[in-house]
Amino acid sequence: MKIFKFLCLSTLLIGSPLAYSDTDGHHAQTTSFKTTPLSPHIFVLQGKGGNIALITGEQGLVLIDADYTEMSEALAAELDSHGGVEQVRYLINTHWHGDHTQGNNMIGQYAPIVAHDNVRSRLLTRQEIKLFGMVSEPYVPHAVPSITYNKSLTLTVNGETLEVVHFANGHTDGDSIIFLKQSNIVHMGDHFFSGFYPFVDVDTGGDVRKMADNVAAVLERIDDDTVVIPGHGPVSSKAELEDFYDMLVGTTVEVEAMLAKGMTVEQIQTEGLSLEWEDWAVGFLSTDVWIAIIAASLSRQSD
Ligand SMILES: [Zn+2]
Repeated sequence: MKIFKFLCLSTLLIGSPLAYSDTDGHHAQTTSFKTTPLSPHIFVLQGKGGNIALITGEQGLVLIDADYTEMSEALAAELDSHGGVEQVRYLINTHWHGDHTQGNNMIGQYAPIVAHDNVRSRLLTRQEIKLFGMVSEPYVPHAVPSITYNKSLTLTVNGETLEVVHFANGHTDGDSIIFLKQSNIVHMGDHFFSGFYPFVDVDTGGDVRKMADNVAAVLERIDDDTVVIPGHGPVSSKAELEDFYDMLVGTTVEVEAMLAKGMTVEQIQTEGLSLEWEDWAVGFLSTDVWIAIIAASLSRQSD
């Protein structure tokens, strides 16, 4: 299957969950989605927040993630060409973050929302991402997942089997990775930021080391033809996911070694990481923030 690659990384970065921490002083102007067909019936929609997958067919529509509230109008317009938002049968949330779930408010009026148990718990209560000074108030009932699972859940719609699998404590404590069996596509949620340092939400159960373990487990399951949809960044292949894994492990080893020498986080930030990783700090997360996230993961009590 053809792999689609985009060069418009700056648009994706501005449209990231860290948009509120942009240092370049301007806000995302995105008001529409960039749509990429992966097959005649599966599409990736890239707007302001996390990448959305859309599965279409005679039995209706399935969405994986729903972007920010301000993209809901554009999302509904996008779905018009597939029969309209009323045709949505299920919405799957990869995790609780607002750039993937705020659109629940609109889609949840038409279809049940599926997610890991911990996504439901978090969306029912007030959440905070201290690193970005971001607060998420409890969602209204129809915007909260009503179908939740603990380990894995299988959904078959339009001849496509979607295996929704929980990968513990990677990006958050409620991450799902979704394998589309027949089409050999995987939606990684925020277990994969293609080409740049990821945000790992240590405060809500994320851990850089476990993220690496989880990515390794996914790499075992996929092949060179698998289309890999990241939470953020361009549609990718197994090779890019391997690069991401190498970065996670390589940077963690470096921070761990410096901590073992007795260096403080500030001293490690002054020292920096090896030059081989510098291309990963392309605006989404600086090397300094990435070092702080790794250090926070390493000092975290394991579950
Ligand atoms: Zn996220």
